[in-house]
Amino acid sequence: MSSLASAGGDSHAVESQLGRLDDREIAVVAEALEEAIKASDRSIFYRAFRASRLPFICHEYYDRPVELFAACFDIVHRLGGVSPAVALAVENHFYVTSAIATFPAAADPALERRRRRLIETIATERLLVANTNSKVHSVNIGEIGTLATRDGASLRVNGEAAYTSLASEADLLILLTELKGEGAVFIEIPTQSENPSVEIGPYLFPNAMLDSDTRRITFHDVRLPADALIAATQSRVTNSLVPFEMTWHQLLIPALYLGAALRAIEEVRSFLVATKGRDGQSLASLDGMVVDVGRLALEYQSARCLVHKAADALADVQEIPRDEVQVERAVHLAGAAKYTGTRAAESIVTAARRVVGARSFVGNSVLERLSNEVMFASLGPEVSAVLERRYGKLVLENKFFQLLS
Ligand SMILES: Cc1cc2nc3c(=O)[nH]c(=O)nc-3n(C[C@H](O)[C@H](O)[C@H](O)COP(=O)(O)OP(=O)(O)OC[C@H]3O[C@@H](n4cnc5c(N)ncnc54)[C@H](O)[C@@H]3O)c2cc1C
Repeated sequence: MSSLASAGGDSHAVESQLGRLDDREIAVVAEALEEAIKASDRSIFYRAFRASRLPFICHEYYDRPVELFAACFDIVHRLGGVSPAVALAVENHFYVTSAIATFPAAADPALERRRRRLIETIATERLLVANTNSKVHSVNIGEIGTLATRDGASLRVNGEAAYTSLASEADLLILLTELKGEGAVFIEIPTQSENPSVEIGPYLFPNAMLDSDTRRITFHDVRLPADALIAATQSRVTNSLVPFEMTWHQLLIPALYLGAALRAIEEVRSFLVATKGRDGQSLASLDGMVVDVGRLALEYQSARCLVHKAADALADVQEIPRDEVQVERAVHLAGAAKYTGTRAAESIVTAARRVVGARSFVGNSVLERLSNEVMFASLGPEVSAVLERRYGKLVLENKFFQLLS
């Protein structure tokens, strides 16, 4: 067992008991990821991942957000310590399947049946799920590049989406788009079938985030049956689905990058314990180093606590539309967790690199990979300016103080 695994092992075991997920199952998949990265062959990881029960825990923990979050946290946190890029790809699968599996839609029986059917299909057919919010890079921030239209009993989808991680690995794509004249909808589209109308483009980030498998997707008049619509009509229940899903995403993003931060702290520890100064003393015995390392650990611990606190707020959403206020509170806390967690991860990895020095970049070191990939942490899903603006408005509209109570 690596020293990281033993260092993180106890806390993983505690959370895994909560989530009733055996830590060894995660360790097997994390080891396959280590091997895949060494061999520059992601298929080694995906074979182990698909063969495990990890991708399908959304089915086991259906309607159990507390256990499901604990399990998802453990998985993406551990994988984030090996490859943040691959962890980001699978985080997409986890957040979208978790949101569907825990969305309390009893007040909308059609949506309730639809989400149950989708999770059953994902589990029984062992599908990996990618998703895209259909954003494109244009001169207008937030522009949506796709449009769905009704055509008799079927649907047509056209246009382009800039970002889809897990794009070439996924079996199913969940598309958030506009249905002409009806508003925002979620649509499911099979991506591994021989469907030339779904064009999966080249890597969007061909260097640092290559392993996230993020690609542009173009839809050339894709024809789908009407039941490809997951949330068909606008209502108070379906309107909460987008923020609910975003909350899951904003919670699992810091979870994975904090995994990278914890790995960086472990790299610092190994380096300081193994390396001696000119006086023959271990660097770990220098008082300044103790303080420096303590600062990193405190930063990690504080950010991690916030992620768990925000996850509790998500679990408070038990019935929609009754709990719309709780949805709003969960959105705000998840935004704070994502903001703080991703910034902390970036700053911890940077500080770790400074301690270890130039050897961080020698011989395919893990710190090099973490350094290159952690800078993507704060870039999405919601950018910092959006979160800062939202919190600024809360204060100025005198709503921030209620959020604290
Ligand atoms: C590695 C990676 C993988 C991704 N994978 C997926 C995926 O699988 N599926 C998916 O749907 N999306 C994915 N995304 C996209 C992600 O969810 C966000 O949509 C995206 O990161 C937003 O970043 P942007 O630069 O496109 O933001 P933009 O919204 O284009 O903003 C660009 C910049 O404009 C400024 N700005 C924007 N809004 C405001 C504002 N309100 N006030 C002031 N300034 C503002 C900020 O400086 C911001 O950095 C991925 C992104 C990355 C980086």
